[in-house]
Amino acid sequence: MTLPDGVQRREIDGETGLATRGKPVYGEPTDDGWRRWDPGRSKLGAMLDSGMDVGLTGGETVLYLGAASGTTVSHVADFAGPTYAVEFAPRPMRDLLSVAEDRPRLFPLLSDAREPTEYAHVVEPVDVIVQDVATRGQARVALENRRFLDDGKLLLAIKARSEDVTRRPENVFEDVLGELREEYEILETRSLEPYHDDHLGVVAVPDS
Ligand code: SAM
Repeated sequence: MTLPDGVQRREIDGETGLATRGKPVYGEPTDDGWRRWDPGRSKLGAMLDSGMDVGLTGGETVLYLGAASGTTVSHVADFAGPTYAVEFAPRPMRDLLSVAEDRPRLFPLLSDAREPTEYAHVVEPVDVIVQDVATRGQARVALENRRFLDDGKLLLAIKARSEDVTRRPENVFEDVLGELREEYEILETRSLEPYHDDHLGVVAVPDS
């Protein structure tokens, strides 16, 4: 699997792992302008690290749903093109705004990802949607935002426990994937363990 331009495997502090170039955000080790992208703190990092074919080459326009304080989306904005970062909770949004101060291609949006009409006037069609909302209704969020993808990719992390803590994760994953198939073709799925328990990484493309 080739890494996107702007992402490398590098040794930093005696450990080899993914890294991007940019100002550090969450106390990650740095070396010569590079900062480690910790797959234990990032579902997309875990997808890349495990060799999933996410199809990123660098420079893409990205819509990132569930940006939180910016841990993962900061790495994305280090190597991608315009990166729209949707987060609905005001507290992490404050941190995200300061992360964006050093990243001119990162555009934080305080909005609900279930209501894309709130940001449809700002967001252009994108090459990639990255979704990590970890709430009930994860398939619905992906379906609602499909409008921003022409022929791009959806890179989704499904958290089973956010849908139903009482059900077996495999059954939850099957249900979410079934709902996604209404409008997406699933290209690849992979467990994100050992980095993230009961999470499934998904690569999908919109049905034409
Ligand atoms: N992706 C982040 C990272 O790797 O740095 C972590 C995301 S955290 C698991 C999930 C985030 O999604 C939370 O900050 C939560 O507030 C946000 N979220 C959940 N539902 C949302 C929604 N409907 N619209 C926008 N943000 C949402």
